[in-house]
Amino acid sequence: MTETPDDGTDQAAEASSGSVEEPPFGLPKAVEAPDDARNATEPQTSPDAIAVPKQDSGQSDSEADAPRKRVIRIKKKRGPVELKFQPVENGVDYLLSVTEHLADKPSPRNLKYAILHLQAATEVLLKARLQLEHWTLVFEKLENASLDKFNKGDFQSCGTPDALKRLKDIVGIEVGVTGSIDNDLRQLVKWRNALQHYGLTVPAPAVEKLSVNVLDFLLSFVRDQLRPELKRQERQVLDREMESVSDGLASINRFLTARMNRLADELKDLADEITHCPLCMQKTLIVDGDPDCRFCQVAWRDGGDVAAAYVENVQGLSIFEAIKDGGDALITNCPECQHESLVADVQMASGTVADYFCFQCGTPQGPLGKCDACGSPTVVDDGLSLCGFCLDAKIERF
Ligand SMILES: [Zn+2]
Ligand SMILES: [Zn+2]
Ligand SMILES: [Zn+2]
Repeated sequence: MTETPDDGTDQAAEASSGSVEEPPFGLPKAVEAPDDARNATEPQTSPDAIAVPKQDSGQSDSEADAPRKRVIRIKKKRGPVELKFQPVENGVDYLLSVTEHLADKPSPRNLKYAILHLQAATEVLLKARLQLEHWTLVFEKLENASLDKFNKGDFQSCGTPDALKRLKDIVGIEVGVTGSIDNDLRQLVKWRNALQHYGLTVPAPAVEKLSVNVLDFLLSFVRDQLRPELKRQERQVLDREMESVSDGLASINRFLTARMNRLADELKDLADEITHCPLCMQKTLIVDGDPDCRFCQVAWRDGGDVAAAYVENVQGLSIFEAIKDGGDALITNCPECQHESLVADVQMASGTVADYFCFQCGTPQGPLGKCDACGSPTVVDDGLSLCGFCLDAKIERF
């Protein structure tokens, strides 16, 4: 078994998930020491401990010396490719651990391990499929791929976002048909990194909701992409484990549904004031000067933080890219409360889309014009149109 150094994956995952210096927006930080976070996966095989497959075709006799135990040769036209059972079993074992950690009322420690193991499972399973296509695809930089390094496990492997992208673009697998799995996996990587670096704590319902989505996705992924490549015996072992994961998933789902049903009653008259929570993605975020999500029960410290998280997680836009490209700012000052927390095109729980919505004061706005001085969205009157800031600045000058 070849193992990739743990750091390689960390760096790769961090590199592809943007900055890790900042904890996720507005979350409480550093409650738990992250010391043991890195060890979380140690009781089991490292998440990177992916089987070394034999090369595509044209295998020389000397290369065929690798251990043949638990290796399956797949009959495909493109030549022999092998999938080892161990990484698949290992990945599914992580999934089972996630459901166990989320059973009943999970403690902060259980939540931590749920996130770490979910991320570990995702990496192992996605990379197992990539390797099935070609061993080079798990390298962070394809141009650095070398069989020798691969066999020694001496290389930096790609992070989850890259793995997902390669599965789509190179292998041609339809992943994330629902459209949200990309966001969910990005969020998972952020949480995992924040856990390791800052000892982040995430509210239980948010972890549960994300876990349900990712578990659901990975179960289908294993069933459709990996299971068919295994031997009959191995499939039987896998099926038993998958069934346990499914059961665990179902019970978390029941809990979440019950919670949502209770909330639906409570929130039904507020549909025009509620929007998606950027943490749990439920339409349960009430914004009225004190933004809080009724589902994951996170009270945000600042409307600007919610706005930033909303733009990135719900709308899937990059604030960094927008600034770099010099386009319109994605978050501007609210004409109502002047706070920098105004976002365009926000969908409310009722289904209506506000042209602009302020995540601080909760005021939806119709179409806005631009401030004649700075270009920020502002209410346009006849004559000179100035935003609050430019108007104040003008008055001060007199
Ligand atoms: Zn929430
Ligand atoms: Zn406002
Ligand atoms: Zn202005």
